[in-house]
Amino acid sequence: MNEENAACESRVEISAAVAVYNEERILPELCRRLAAVLKTVAGRYEIVLVDDGSKDGSWKKIEEICGDDPNVRGIKFSRNFGQHVAITAALDNARGDYVVLMDADLQDRPEEIPKMLERCKQGFEVVYARRRSRADSAGKKLSSRIFYSVFNKLSSFQIRPDVGVFRIITRRVCNHVVQMREQARFIPGLIDWMGFSSDYVDVDRPEREAGETQYTLSKLMKLGVETIIAFSNLPLRLATGIGFIVTLLSFPPGIYLILKWLFLGDAATGWACLIAGMLFLGGVQLLAIGIVGEYIGRIYMDVKQRPLYVVEKRT
Ligand code: UDP
Ligand code: MG
Repeated sequence: MNEENAACESRVEISAAVAVYNEERILPELCRRLAAVLKTVAGRYEIVLVDDGSKDGSWKKIEEICGDDPNVRGIKFSRNFGQHVAITAALDNARGDYVVLMDADLQDRPEEIPKMLERCKQGFEVVYARRRSRADSAGKKLSSRIFYSVFNKLSSFQIRPDVGVFRIITRRVCNHVVQMREQARFIPGLIDWMGFSSDYVDVDRPEREAGETQYTLSKLMKLGVETIIAFSNLPLRLATGIGFIVTLLSFPPGIYLILKWLFLGDAATGWACLIAGMLFLGGVQLLAIGIVGEYIGRIYMDVKQRPLYVVEKRT
């Protein structure tokens, strides 16, 4: 009986999984607010901070915080592997019955966690924080709108456009997510792909507390393309489709030229239209090869079966 009690007591009820990249100015405030909230909803909680190869003093801050609070654990990557790999490492190490996924910059407010957890405990496997309002730049909002609409048109399943990483998942969902080890990863996509029962609560998304976004436009575009390719084969079929249409288009002028030559004895002249046709076809072919190449590149990355990340230190 005593042993059972001890096991119960040591069980972590809720984990927060947080990817950290150059967030030294926010970390103390994040951990303070997060701990204050988690204390109210769980007997035992933990905060898992994964330093994704920060260039500032984030790791030193994490070590300090871990020294003060035994409920915080830190993992340091050997270099920057990207936000979604860092989240994966946090999920790999999270032990809670429920796991909160959130950003480190306090754009995901810890104070929203209790109502999300409550919904989760009512029997949903995933509870999203739906963004009622969003204090992000116009460019960011536009690019995210384009990404979600392209993704949802191309993919066989839908991801919610009005949510980000911020969500609570159950142990069951977490176990499934960490089994997916593909290199090109977008965690919200992986979770939505599984299709578990879900619900949402409405939240506001404030501005960053400090520092600036780690996502430049080029980083965002790269993630967008990676994600679409990771979840959809439609671009490949698009190449086939374009090839088919171009072939069809070449029939009428071809037939016209042959008939003209047969009946009027008039050979085709004019190099301008020839060059235009060649350039067009060459372009379409290169585009198609490029699309195929993108997929082969992904296959190459995955068959190597390298670990997703390398840990340099832990607290
Ligand atoms: N992040 C990360 N690795 C990166 C870029 C970002 O772990 O290469 C983390 C970052 O510290 C933050 C979260 O991912 O906790 C979201 O990043 P950011 O706030 O820059 O993105 P935005 O809110 O602008 O989408
Ligand atoms: Mg942010």
